[in-house]
Amino acid sequence: SKKQVGVLGLGRMGAALAGAFLGAGHDVVVWNRSPLKAGPLLDRGARLAATPAEAASADVVVSCLSTYDTQQPVLEAASLSGRTLVNLTSGTPEQARVAAKWAASAGVDYVDGVIMAVPQGIGTPSARILYSGSEAAFGAQRAVLEVLGEPMFLGADAGLAALYDLALLGMMWSAMGGYLHALALVGSEGVTPEQFTPMALEWHSAVGGFLSGIGAQVASGDYETDVSALDINAAGLAMLVETSRAQGIGTTIPAALRELFDRAVAAGHGTHAIASVIEEIR
Ligand code: NDP
Repeated sequence: SKKQVGVLGLGRMGAALAGAFLGAGHDVVVWNRSPLKAGPLLDRGARLAATPAEAASADVVVSCLSTYDTQQPVLEAASLSGRTLVNLTSGTPEQARVAAKWAASAGVDYVDGVIMAVPQGIGTPSARILYSGSEAAFGAQRAVLEVLGEPMFLGADAGLAALYDLALLGMMWSAMGGYLHALALVGSEGVTPEQFTPMALEWHSAVGGFLSGIGAQVASGDYETDVSALDINAAGLAMLVETSRAQGIGTTIPAALRELFDRAVAAGHGTHAIASVIEEIR
C-alpha cells in the first residue's frame, strides 16, 4: 500500500533510493542540501521539502548522506521523534551504535542499513541491502524497503549491518587488488586486460567455490588437509613476490599476504590448510 516516504540526501545513492520509492507508487518527499539535485525527482512526482523537518513528516524517513558526521546535524534538525529512521549512510559499527543510542534518546525507531549495490542496481533483485537495529521497525517497514532491493535483517545490534558491510567490502577490495596485481604482472609481458580477464573471471568463480570448505574448517578448528598445505602456498607467494620484483612491478599486495602466511607457517601451521591462517589474523 502507498506510504509517505521521506528521503534525506539526494546524492548518487539517495536519488536512486527516492527514484525507486517513486517507481513503486509511494508518496515521496525529498530534502537535499543542494535542492537543485531534486529536479528530476520532482518531475516524477516527488515533493521538495525546504527543511529536513519537512521531509520528516513522512511515515518512514530514509537518510543517505556521505558520512555520519555530515548526517547527524541533519537528523537533529529533522525532529524525528515518533518516526522510523532508516539510516543508509555508510559508517563503522561504532558509529551505528552511537546513532542508535541517540535515536533511542530522541524517541526515534532506528534501523541501520547498508547497501551492497551501486545506485544503478537499486530497485533490482540483485541489490542486497542488510539491516540491523529495531526488528519491530524493520518488520513494519519491510514492504517499503523491499522496493530498494532484497532486504536481510541481521539482528538487534545496530552495528551489525556496518560490520557485515566492512567484512564484505574487505573481500571485494582484496579481490580487486589481486586482480589489478595480476593485470600488472601479465601486463609486464604485454598481455592485455582483454586477453586476461576471461581467465581471471573463471578462476575467480573457482576460488568462490572454495569458500564453504574454508569456512567449515574455520568453524571446526580442524585444519587437516589432503588438498593443499600452507607451506606450499607460502612458497608460491614467495615466488609471486620474487617474480613481481623481477618483472619490475610493485610487491605490496603479495608481500603482505606472504608475511602473514610465513607467520602462520612459523606458528606451526605449515602442514595445515590455508584456513589455519585465521589463527594468525585473530
Ligand atoms: P554522493 O557524494 O553522491 O552524495 C553525498 C550526499 O551527502 C549528497 O546528498 C550531499 O549533499 C550530502 N552531503 C554531503 N555533505 C553534506 C553536509 N555537510 N550537509 C548536508 N548534506 C551533505 O554520495 P553517494 O550518494 O554515492 O553516497 C551516499 C552514501 O551511500 C555514502 O555513505 C556511501 O558510502 C553510501 N553508499 C554509496 C554507494 C554508491 O555506489 N554510490 C554504494 C553503497 C553505499 P549535496 O548534494 O548538497 O552535496
